[in-house]
Amino acid sequence: MEQQCCVCGEPLDEMNVSRCRGCGGYFHQAWSTKSEVPQCGKYWIDEDSYALVFACARCLRAVPVPQHQPDDHGGLE
Ligand SMILES: [Zn+2]
Ligand SMILES: [Zn+2]
Repeated sequence: MEQQCCVCGEPLDEMNVSRCRGCGGYFHQAWSTKSEVPQCGKYWIDEDSYALVFACARCLRAVPVPQHQPDDHGGLE
C-alpha cells in the first residue's frame, strides 16, 4: 500500500516521512540532505514537552504565526 503526501500528493517512501500533528496526515520530511525528497512540512522542539512536533505545510499555512509588532514608539519624540 502506497501512502501519499497530504501536501503535494506525491507518493511517500518509508524513510522520509513524518506525521502531522495538526491533520494527522503524512508528509514529506527529508531526513537526509542528500535525499531528493521535497520538504512538505516542518518540525521543531516543543518548549513545554521538549518533544519533536511535526506539522505539514498545509497546517502551517492555516495557523497564522504570531508576529510581534514593533509598537513602542513612545518617548522617541
Ligand atoms: Zn509532499
Ligand atoms: Zn497537517
